[in-house]
Amino acid sequence: MIFLVVASPCALVSSIMPVILSAISNGARNGILFKGGLHLEHIGLVKVVAFDKTGTLTQGKPKVTDVIPFQNHTEDTLLTVSASLELLSEHPIAKSIVNAAKEKNLSLDRASNLQAIPGFGVHGTLSGKECQIGKIVEYEQKKISLEQIQIIKKLEEEGKTVIFTKLDGEIIGFLAIQDTPRPQAKEAIRLLKNKGMKVVMLTGDSNITAKSIAKSCDIDEIYSELLPEQKVNVIRELNKKYGKVAMVGDGVNDAPALATASVGIAMGAAGTDVALETANVILMSDDLSKVAYAISLGQKTSRVIKQNLCFALVVIVSLISANFLDEINLPTGVVGHEGSTFLVILSGLRLLR
Ligand code: ADP
Ligand code: MG
Repeated sequence: MIFLVVASPCALVSSIMPVILSAISNGARNGILFKGGLHLEHIGLVKVVAFDKTGTLTQGKPKVTDVIPFQNHTEDTLLTVSASLELLSEHPIAKSIVNAAKEKNLSLDRASNLQAIPGFGVHGTLSGKECQIGKIVEYEQKKISLEQIQIIKKLEEEGKTVIFTKLDGEIIGFLAIQDTPRPQAKEAIRLLKNKGMKVVMLTGDSNITAKSIAKSCDIDEIYSELLPEQKVNVIRELNKKYGKVAMVGDGVNDAPALATASVGIAMGAAGTDVALETANVILMSDDLSKVAYAISLGQKTSRVIKQNLCFALVVIVSLISANFLDEINLPTGVVGHEGSTFLVILSGLRLLR
């Protein structure tokens, strides 16, 4: 009877679940939504944190600062064509362009055959003419005068994103868009670095713009001009080189990387549906400093589970040994068994704090 009581593994079984539930509840109260206990374990083992730029490190509320038409086009035509293409896009850049056009009371036609190309821009047809907005490919840069290239470089060094608009195959001008880093970005990165994490930035934006934003957030390693599938490759490489990677992102273009990373973390308010669906962890208030908190919570969860398992195992082995040596009676066995179960549960509840 004594053996049956003391050898039943209740304390071992109760070592894990209360810890995980308490940690998930703690996360939820701090604006971090874990989609399951497994992600807590994974996030505790993370060695690298990769941040997307637009909408994640930056506020995702960009403003059009410069409208620069080419040759015989006007600012209004450039803005009208650009905003007509962007009317339906969910990208933060698109919203800023539409707002700029609305502020000038320009009348917009919705373009037909609209097609969004994640990490690149938007294609469509406006009054029968093919048009396009977004990045330009390298060979097209030759069509831009040296003087304009100097202006573009200067804008990018100020951390602005430069977007080109094409009408009927011809570049009709460009727009500069400025997005400011989130106020907590720098602090969030400092917290992660203090924890010994490697912090990198992944972006589809140009290298110069990326460098400027990275500098203001204190990130020293950047990967720029990435298409969504290239972000996936970078995540895989980081994983091979350093170990588990957490990817923090918001956009449709981040979804493949969020799915590939050991832990995908999405911005709750700024995030697109696809990002929220794909991620394993969601930051409800978009507060980046919670990334370090989530990692600490994960580490603490693993630590408490290990402590509990060791404690439960030691108690069970001691009680069984005592029983074989005939040193224990039934009431003591029951107290030892129930007591240890109760203690590991209480220890798990510590994570609620
Ligand atoms: P990030 O990786 O920093 O979140 P994206 O991958 O969303 O950036 O976009 C990369 C680049 O592609 C942008 O900097 C911009 O030049 C261009 N781009 C993407 N979507 C759009 C859009 N809807 N309109 C204009 N340009 C876009
Ligand atoms: Mg983004």
